[in-house]
Amino acid sequence: MIAAQRIEIQRVEQSRVGEFDFSNIPFGKHYTDHMFMADFRDGAWKNLRIVPYGKITISPASPTLHYAHSIFEGLKAYRSESGEALVFRPLANLNRLNRSAERMCLATVPEDLYMESMRELIALDREWIPRQPGASLYIRPFLFSADEYIGIRPSIDFTYMVILSPVGMYYSDPVRVKIETHYTRAAAGGTGYAKTGGNYAASIYPALLAQKEGYHQLLWTDGRAHEYIEESGTMNVMFVIDDTLVTPELTDSILPGITRDSVLTLARHWGWKVEERKVSVKEVVEALASGKMQEAFGVGTAATIAHIEAIGYEGKDYTLPPIAERTFANKLYEELEGIKRGTRPDPFNWMVRM
Ligand SMILES: *Cc1c(COP(=O)(O)O)cnc(C)c1O
Repeated sequence: MIAAQRIEIQRVEQSRVGEFDFSNIPFGKHYTDHMFMADFRDGAWKNLRIVPYGKITISPASPTLHYAHSIFEGLKAYRSESGEALVFRPLANLNRLNRSAERMCLATVPEDLYMESMRELIALDREWIPRQPGASLYIRPFLFSADEYIGIRPSIDFTYMVILSPVGMYYSDPVRVKIETHYTRAAAGGTGYAKTGGNYAASIYPALLAQKEGYHQLLWTDGRAHEYIEESGTMNVMFVIDDTLVTPELTDSILPGITRDSVLTLARHWGWKVEERKVSVKEVVEALASGKMQEAFGVGTAATIAHIEAIGYEGKDYTLPPIAERTFANKLYEELEGIKRGTRPDPFNWMVRM
């Protein structure tokens, strides 16, 4: 449907890539030369364009500003040893983007628009893909209401955009997390499974309180009775108990992570014992207390794997075994990073050349 439409390209006069310091890249602060934009008007995607990265204008009566009528995605491009741009599972992100769109009454994005815009943008800004080991190019597609209407209703007009940000080696120290038993990230029947703005705005305050107590992140529990573990910060969470990889089963209050899915796929491929099921706070605390909890880690695009060093519950901290003994998480990390950088075989065809 959009295949016939050309993407208009307005290039920058002078790339900023030469001035960029690739040796010291902070997360999320620098963006490449160009960005992609498309408008949904009269029921169709129009005006596909790549323009110099910069500010956009938005109506002060935009439902995006007032009601967080917006969704986003996050994925990464890597530079292979031969210099190609490889993107990890982009269609899985499209799938999730469109499920988020449906939940939030936003227009869905057709596959050709999504893939072609990403391809063209990355081709134009390919010099921004870091060459440093561990670094990559973060891709942030997002979609928001372009209406000028302050009432609550499904929006009619939308804007879809893609911006790119070089990111350094996400060196994550092992994290200390706290099991949250008061605040809720997402309720049953709510929007937890959608990557939509408001979920994240609502999570900042409880996370800040935990930080004041010396934790990096929260281990979110269900909103009904805070009885079951859901996620950790903006990552899915996994445990190794009795040599079994255990993770909460997906519900409508858990974001279905693509890293989560990739980890489960690899673990099953290797013949590991894997359980996707309800994981109670009680079970986790008992496994911690008895020493049966061998590993705990978060999984997500930013860090791939973030080891959990300690878990706090009701004022008591439980420390997990040293990182060097985390054979499950360490093997998963090595394998996933190897697949993403093209140094290991890609048996599931996850990498897409751009
Ligand atoms: C994005 C996100 C994740 C991780 O998803 P990935 O696709 O693996 O990056 C997990 N939880 C939340 C709440 C998220 O927003």
